[in-house]
Parts: sequence; structure tokens; C-alpha cells
Amino acid sequence: METPKTPLSIDTRIREGLSRVGMVLRVDEWNRAKATGLNPTQLSILTLLEGREKDGLGVKEIAAHLGVSQPTATDSINALERKGFLAKRQGAADKRAVSVVLTADGASALNATDTGEGLAAQAIGALDHGEQEDLLVTLIKMIRRLQEADAIPVQRMCVTCRYFAPFAHADAARPHHCKFVDAAFGQRELRIDCRDHVEADPASRAATWDAFQTG
Ligand code: SF4
Repeated sequence: METPKTPLSIDTRIREGLSRVGMVLRVDEWNRAKATGLNPTQLSILTLLEGREKDGLGVKEIAAHLGVSQPTATDSINALERKGFLAKRQGAADKRAVSVVLTADGASALNATDTGEGLAAQAIGALDHGEQEDLLVTLIKMIRRLQEADAIPVQRMCVTCRYFAPFAHADAARPHHCKFVDAAFGQRELRIDCRDHVEADPASRAATWDAFQTG
């Protein structure tokens, strides 16, 4: 048992903290989903497909991103298709493969739920700018670590993007450069899920990460 004299390891206490925040995020997701008659898995699928209108995603990829089984993902995809929120297309490369894309109605339903409010948003808003920035960078480091371990698929983050040039500018407020839009940006604007992301090859990803780490 944990006492003031025998605290649990910091690793354990951080996981406890993340678990509490995760619980609040799930409550927010339930509330958002309820507003449009969806369940959280269905809402997560719509969110995942947003910004992927051109190619969509396969059922296997959707299941991997959500951390659910393929039958569970298939059930939710079929329910969303019946509502007209997404559509299935023949894969561009493999004609036998099915690609799932968001429809205009699905995009509208998603926008209706995105109020930017919720208990987690309030807690994040109570942090000062420096704390928010530190938290964002810490999360990016953790997510990257998980994806390098193949625990989660590669996310559409700047640090894995072929267009990202970290610390390319002397300006401390906007040190990074996005070659896609040819513009400088700051740590606060680092993306976790950018629709314009193009995954860099493994060697470039490693070099970019080193440059990002060393600043
Ligand atoms: S395209 Fe998006 S993910 Fe890539 S560097 Fe620019 S902002 Fe970041």
C-alpha cells in the first residue's frame, strides 16, 4: 500500500494520472457522441476519417487506429454507412480492397459535435501557455515512442512528416518550418493529426527526430 513514506514509483503515479485524464476524455467523448445519436466508437471513426477524404482508410487500418477488433470496427462502419455518414469505395491500388471514406453528411455530423468544450478542454485551458506547450511536446514524445514500438499506427504528426524541418529558423517563437505551406511555426503549433501530413521514410524520420530533440 502507498504511504507518504513509501510512495509508488513515479512511473506508476504518472500512469495513474493519465488514467484519470483518460477517464474524463471518455466522458467527454460519450457526451459528444450522444448529441448525434452515435456511440464513442462510431464518433472516433468519423474523427479518424476526417481529412482523409481522398483515399479513406481500410477496415484493418481503422481497427488498428482505434485499438479494436476488426469485427467491432466492421459493425460500427456498417452502422455509420446505414446512417449515410460514410461510404465504401473500391481501393485505388487493390481493386479487391475496400476503402472507407467520410460523406458530406458524416462531416456535418462531426462538425456538429465539435464544440471545443468539455471537462478535459477546461482543464487544459487552465494551464498557462508554457505548461500547455510542455504537455504537447511530452505527448508527442510519448506517442512517437509508442508508434516506434509498433504499439500504435504512425500518426499524422509533424515529427514524422516529410515536410517538417525542425529548428530551421533562429526565431525562438517560430523555429520550425513546414515545407508544405512554406511557413515558419512555433512549438505550440506542432500537429498531432495534420491532414496534409505525408509520412517520411524511416531514415528521414530518425534524422528529423534527432534534430527536433537537440534543437
Ligand atoms: S504538412 Fe502538417 S504535419 Fe507536415 S510539417 Fe506541415 S503542419 Fe506539420
